[in-house]
Amino acid sequence: MRRKLAAGNWKMNGTRPALAELSKLQTPENIDVLICPPATLVAQAAETQTVAIGGQDCHAAQSGAHTGDISADMLADAGASYVITGHSERRTDHGESDSTIAAKSTAAWDSGLVAVICIGETLAERESGKTLEVIATQLAGSVPDGATGENTVIAYEPVWAIGTGLVPELVQIAEVHDFIRSELTARFGADIAGAIRLLYGGSVKPSNASEIFATSNVDGALVGGASLKADDFNGIIEAL
Ligand code: 13P
Repeated sequence: MRRKLAAGNWKMNGTRPALAELSKLQTPENIDVLICPPATLVAQAAETQTVAIGGQDCHAAQSGAHTGDISADMLADAGASYVITGHSERRTDHGESDSTIAAKSTAAWDSGLVAVICIGETLAERESGKTLEVIATQLAGSVPDGATGENTVIAYEPVWAIGTGLVPELVQIAEVHDFIRSELTARFGADIAGAIRLLYGGSVKPSNASEIFATSNVDGALVGGASLKADDFNGIIEAL
């Protein structure tokens, strides 16, 4: 059985006072709860020992002349156990390609981190009927060989649903999640594919979480805005 995962991505939000939210989070025994704060807070967040802590990005190299970047080794040293790779905001703001994301995900594994690899189509791609094609390409290019249920989580985040309040129809979420599972099965075999957790992300809130979690092949959520306040995120954890 895949363990459920409630993951929060604080994005570029939060200074030290925000850490007070962590101790208010529920941590049910059968669910993994993860918060990915900004890099400046990772070490302090990990010290609270409340929930699992992750980075929001890492470099593909572990050290070197890369001003402003952070390596997977550094995140692990700061107490992180996960790192998000390939978030659509990284793909857009920093021009990250599938091969860059695969290299970052491999670096994450090398440091003992679980890579939360993000994929998702734009509105234009959905409207032109290319969603599954885009998902297949991103999966093939962003997920390195060697993925397992222990080292990899895949997050399906339709770009048009992020921070917009728009959520796909449940049948659309199910279609993509079932497709991801079948693509993983074709590539890695049923045992490995069946162990990799698939998260949905994009405007998840306490009010819509239950129906999303009841959808086929949804093992949890990657939550932006509604992860910033413990009250909201607890509603999502409860729905899991
Ligand atoms: P929102 O939940 O704010 O739509 O953000 C989703 C997201 O991008 C999480 O990584």
